[in-house]
Amino acid sequence: MAYQTVNPYTNEIVKTYPDATPEEIETALTKGAKLYQQWRSTNIQSRADTLHHIADLMRKHEDSLAKTMVIDMGKLLKEAKGEVELCAIIADYFADHGADMLKPTPIKSGAGDAWVEKHATGVVLMVEPWNFPYYQIMRVFAPNFMVGNPMILKHAANTPGSAVAFEQLVKEAGAPDGSLTNLFLSYDQVGTVIADSRIQGVALTGSERGGKAVAAAAGENLKKSTMELGGMDSFIVLPDADLDQVMKVARQVRLYNAGQVCTSSKRFIVAANLYDEFLKRLGEQFASVKPGDPLDAATTLAPMSSAKAKNKLQQQVKEAIEKGATLYQGNTPINLPGQFFEPTILTDIKPENPAYSEEMFGPVAQVYKVESEQDAIALANDSQFGLGGIVFAGDKQHGAQVAGQVETGMEFVNTFMYTLPELPFGGVKKSGYGREMSTLGLEAFVNEELIVAKDAPELDNLAGALF
Ligand code: NAP
Repeated sequence: MAYQTVNPYTNEIVKTYPDATPEEIETALTKGAKLYQQWRSTNIQSRADTLHHIADLMRKHEDSLAKTMVIDMGKLLKEAKGEVELCAIIADYFADHGADMLKPTPIKSGAGDAWVEKHATGVVLMVEPWNFPYYQIMRVFAPNFMVGNPMILKHAANTPGSAVAFEQLVKEAGAPDGSLTNLFLSYDQVGTVIADSRIQGVALTGSERGGKAVAAAAGENLKKSTMELGGMDSFIVLPDADLDQVMKVARQVRLYNAGQVCTSSKRFIVAANLYDEFLKRLGEQFASVKPGDPLDAATTLAPMSSAKAKNKLQQQVKEAIEKGATLYQGNTPINLPGQFFEPTILTDIKPENPAYSEEMFGPVAQVYKVESEQDAIALANDSQFGLGGIVFAGDKQHGAQVAGQVETGMEFVNTFMYTLPELPFGGVKKSGYGREMSTLGLEAFVNEELIVAKDAPELDNLAGALF
């Protein structure tokens, strides 16, 4: 497997990196295990200070960090800068709140004074995708750094530049050696690392295919894992929704990051009374994008991340149309050398069409017409995925009631998706399990150790006693 940066705007091969050697893997595991022991007896405040420093450095190096991502995978420079700032926000948040979140939780119990302490567990392996090259790392890094779990990173094969940049930044901030070690691991080597006794957790963000393979390896070795996988997020527009408000977000929730977002609104489910107008206005918005150099501030449509990603999407759209979908707009070649895909709208997608159930990871919107609220909820739930979703309603409370009936991990009413460190991120069904960020994410690889303490045993009260 080659770790390689190929600029998706110019198609130039920028740099190729060799796979990790067995010696590098052993060194990373040894350092990580040593640091885990060391961190068990050091004050959490020093890690909070370092994490703040990491946030400061992200802001200081925003331009160069953002450009590295743009060259690796093609996102718009403006979006890349936003991602760097988001990483800094996440780092600051866990630096500020990590210690409180890790305080023991008291339990009222007949057994005695009881509480749950939250301890580190050991080295965590994170396997990350290319679509948000720093943010995906930071979601795991910041909380686990505070917990005291050293980390090994296996990044996507097409974003090695970003992996190296993140690792260097952590070093520059003065984090101890072994805090985050980037390794260019092959799939077999990922298996070897997971099997190693020094690894205590595995966090993957990626596709169902990658998730299944890595979760299986984790399961076989009885390692705890979290899986942040794909989505077919619905965007429900109820009959009383304000279409002007809807249209303020509709384009972005599908085209942001060239449509390569797990929580993109991949299925617009629109009440019949608003359907025609919605389609017309979404079409106008999609047609207004300006493809071009992602480093140019005037560009509004970035290339997709790679030729492979574009070809896969092209094939999916072709098949969807062959199997009966109507091409409302788009799907014509863009006359630029990069991996551009014209924003496309498909309608009339029936359940037997593969497009109905497969994630399309690029700028393709599916639009469905529904006759009732119950039909909208049923359609939204008729998916193997359950990551996130959006509901637009005339009334916020009513929108929230509908949102609560959609089987996902995250729903947003009358607004776009937010990802902020205090909000848990993750899904259900084939979108995976576990959560990242928030207290839930921080606790993903924590040993919740129960302590019960008494002055002396009470032999006249044996309810629940095991001895
Ligand atoms: P992917 O192919 O599963 O890759 C993700 C990571 O897993 C990469 O580092 C990849 O390495 C690695 N990987 C894949 N198969 C593996 C295997 N058999 N053994 C070991 N490692 C393996 O995912 P992708 O297609 O690049 O990323 C897009 C997907 O991620 C979409 O489905 C998207 O919805 C999902 N995603 C989910 C979230 C979330 O939070 N739920 C966030 C972002 C993206 P290589 O690059 O070397 O193949």
